[in-house]
Order: sequence, then C-alpha cells, then structure tokens
Amino acid sequence: MFSIRNTTLLVIAALMLACADGGGSSKPSAESAPAEKTGNEDKTNGKTAFDGERAFKHAKTQVEFGPRPAGTPANEKARDYIVRELKSYGLKTALDEFTENTPRGKVKFKNVIAELPGESPNAIIIASHFDTKPFKEFTFVGANDGASSTGAVLEIARVMAAENQSAGRKRKYTYWFVFFDGEEAFCHDWSECLGGNDHTYGSRYMVERLRKEKQLDRVKAMILLDMIGDKDLTIPREDGSSKWLVDAIWGTAQDIGYAKEFPDRHFTVGDDDYMPFLRAGISAVDIIDLEYGSSPEDNSYWHTAEDTLDKISPRSLKIVGDVVLLSLPKVEAQIR
Ligand SMILES: [Zn+2]
Repeated sequence: MFSIRNTTLLVIAALMLACADGGGSSKPSAESAPAEKTGNEDKTNGKTAFDGERAFKHAKTQVEFGPRPAGTPANEKARDYIVRELKSYGLKTALDEFTENTPRGKVKFKNVIAELPGESPNAIIIASHFDTKPFKEFTFVGANDGASSTGAVLEIARVMAAENQSAGRKRKYTYWFVFFDGEEAFCHDWSECLGGNDHTYGSRYMVERLRKEKQLDRVKAMILLDMIGDKDLTIPREDGSSKWLVDAIWGTAQDIGYAKEFPDRHFTVGDDDYMPFLRAGISAVDIIDLEYGSSPEDNSYWHTAEDTLDKISPRSLKIVGDVVLLSLPKVEAQIR
C-alpha cells in the first residue's frame, strides 16, 4: 500500500529528528492498556459468530512461522495452513500459481482462493494478503501487516460456511475468500523498483487471469482487509475506495456501536491490493488502519520489528469481523 504512508513517515521521521530524542526507541512505555481482551466479551457480546480469539490464533500461528516473504519456506507454510483451515470449513480451494520477475530474481507466487457458492455465480471477494515484507536489517513478523487480516478473513470464511451449512441454503451471491501472495514490495520503497510495479503481484495477477478467462464481470465487489488488528483500532474512511461500499461498511459500524473504531473522517491509502480491481472497473474498498504506532495517529510500528503480536488484539479482530459480516446484506442489496 501507499504513497501517502511514506509521506507520513517522512514527516514523523523529521519530527523525531527535530525533537532530537536520539534514541530510535519509539516503544510505548506506558500505553494505557484498554479494557478489553476478555475472550468472554468477544464471544458473548453477540453480533455475529465471529470469534476474535480464533482469528487471533490464526495470526499467532502465522507469526510463529517467522518472516513470510513471497517465495520463502515460511510463506509456503503459511499458505498450507490457510488451505488446511479453509478445507476444514468445507470450502473448495484453488491456487493461482505464477512466476514473476522481481528485484530479487524470478519468484514463484501462489494466491489462495476459496469459494462459497451462492445462488448467483456473480461473486463478492473478501481478501487479505498473507505475505510479509522482506527486511534484512531486522526480523519482521507482520503480526498486524499480513497476519491480522489473514486471520480475520479465515474466521469470516468459517462463519459464512457454517451459516450456509446450518441454514441449508446458499447466500444470494458467491463469495471468494482470497489470500494474496506478494502484496509487499521487495525493494524498500513501494515504487522504487520495476517501474513502480514491485508490489501487489498476487492481486494484479488475479485480475489479469479473470480478464483472460472472461470472468471479471462476475466480480461485483471486492472488500480488502489490511492491518486491522491494532489494539487501538482506528479505520477512517478510505477515499480511494468505492463510496457505496464505504457507506455500507462504515454505516454498519456506526449502527452496531463501532463509530469510534470506524470514525467518520477520511484519508487516502494510495495503493493496495484493491487497486488492480478498481482499475478494472470493479467496486472495491480498503479497510485499513494506518494509525499503528506508539501514540494515536502515528504509524510507527508499521514495517518495523515492533509489528508483533502484543500490539494486536482479539477484540479488534472481532470488531472488524462483525462489521464486515453485518455489512454484507447492505452490500448485496446494492448490487444490480
Ligand atoms: Zn506492509
């Protein structure tokens, strides 16, 4: 994702230099721990069957595999785990397998796609990326950036598959749960290499494949989750996203009591896995929290060794899971 983010970081870096704290240690010494994290609350405050603890466990498992850049053994392990989970929910899975030239040479990528068939062959995509950004300087495990959204999409898939089974009927639309490989740039900056194309390998490939197979018209909406586990969850409206999807999702958040976590203010991401879909004329939305840092509104944990499990919470995952699941009827109702 981004361009705006880089600007923000530059500003933050400049401010840090100006303050001359000299440390580089931006650890939150006394970030007040919000009253949360009781698994009970997650399960009993109802709303949907989405289990925040389960989604958190998926994130933890991925983190334990270590750094998971595209083309690495740990990436393979994470993908196998995702496939195993999806199959255990009774979902049919498929892989998008392809090889691309990258700044690190030829890399093999694999997206995972699970299908929940609906009455209509037309599809709504709910997606995350599961790769993590490669760093030589430090160990980057991507608890929030990669693992949190992947855990949430797995749990959304489980809940929706179980609902279909218990209701004994299909939803109106087909759902594709998509786990993109290769979202992250191999080079340090998003647009530094390959003429600005060193990122979103998986989503760009999927859109091209659908186009070639003449399946692109089937996709009626794309909902992307990225960095949604922050304990201090703040997901403003993303201005690059399709407005009707933003209205449906943020409207739902307000209705069910999450106006604080989904505030009514606006920002722009710049780029992410939703962009290839938008460029192809498909409605898409990016649900992303870029205020992931030691104080509100800074993003200092992003792409650092600080992006660890202790910064994310089952409660935040549950909030996002509930909002997405409960917004789907509104989304479906607006598709013609
Ligand atoms: Zn990232």
